[in-house]
Amino acid sequence: MIPFEMVEPQSLQEAVSLLDPEEPTIRPVAGGTALMLMMKAGVFQPTRLICLHAIEPEHARITVSGEALRIGAMATLSDVEHDANVAARLPVLKRAMRTLSNVRVRNVARVGGALAHGDPHMDLPPVLAALGAKVSVAGPKGHRELPVEALYSGYYETVLEKNELITSVTVPARNGRKATYMKVTSRTADDWPALGVAVSFAHKDGTIRDPIVIVSAATEKLTRMTSTEKELQGATVDDKALARAGEAAAAEAQILADAHGTAAYKRELLKVYLRRAVRQALAEG
Ligand SMILES: Cc1cc2nc3c(=O)[nH]c(=O)nc-3n(C[C@H](O)[C@H](O)[C@H](O)COP(=O)(O)OP(=O)(O)OC[C@H]3O[C@@H](n4cnc5c(N)ncnc54)[C@H](O)[C@@H]3O)c2cc1C
Repeated sequence: MIPFEMVEPQSLQEAVSLLDPEEPTIRPVAGGTALMLMMKAGVFQPTRLICLHAIEPEHARITVSGEALRIGAMATLSDVEHDANVAARLPVLKRAMRTLSNVRVRNVARVGGALAHGDPHMDLPPVLAALGAKVSVAGPKGHRELPVEALYSGYYETVLEKNELITSVTVPARNGRKATYMKVTSRTADDWPALGVAVSFAHKDGTIRDPIVIVSAATEKLTRMTSTEKELQGATVDDKALARAGEAAAAEAQILADAHGTAAYKRELLKVYLRRAVRQALAEG
């Protein structure tokens, strides 16, 4: 491995100041579970890593503000899995953690790293996007906030500047909305998904209202499915409506093949699992 410098700033502000907007070999490191694999594989060779472990502890906390839940970027995925407020308010999020890799990875990986990595196969971003969550970002010019689905610009690409850091993600009040995430793997349940489908919607007078449909793993980047949402809007949950929505999703998604399945296989999965996701969200609340 080529030698590099490792620095440990004591504050978020200092961390931001140590990043360089023009220098891609200087990167923040949170849990390091993704970054170290990239370094071992030789696809990333840092000159300097900015370790975020010593920044203010508030960036690792999970707090309730009104009805919203704020998760600090340095909270581990295990923190999310075991937090009482997450369990009470967002069981869908707790459940998603159970099959996200294994406990060793979850104990080390941070929410900020899981959001910033940009691998479309990751489990956390689609769940948060379906829940209408917003990411807070800090940079030299101050703070900005954006919806989770707006964070991704391509395969392993985000809209973050090289000197910006994710500080937290805020999930709004659910207001009785139904939500679920289906991780579809072609091997073990905790393997990388071939397809991820996350949905949330209000259910009023027997019909679906204001649905959010997110597809991941089968597409170049996490994708919000607006045409499919239009198909579901106002629909009664029955076989015909769900079949129509499945066809709409298969037509809308730009599906790619990978080691987990061909595009044709993933398209069929999407038709089936969108239907299952809506039914599961309704059944589980
Ligand atoms: C064996 C194994 C199996 C896995 N299986 C799964 C799986 O099934 N599902 C799944 O979702 N994931 C899986 N993962 C991936 C895992 O979720 C990610 O590696 C992890 O979430 C990344 O978090 P981290 O804190 O370790 O990030 P790091 O490795 O520290 O960083 C990842 C990227 O994010 C950047 N970054 C980190 N923090 C910030 C921040 N605050 N602001 C801006 N940029 C930041 C880094 O510069 C880097 O580019 C697996 C990983 C391993 C090693």
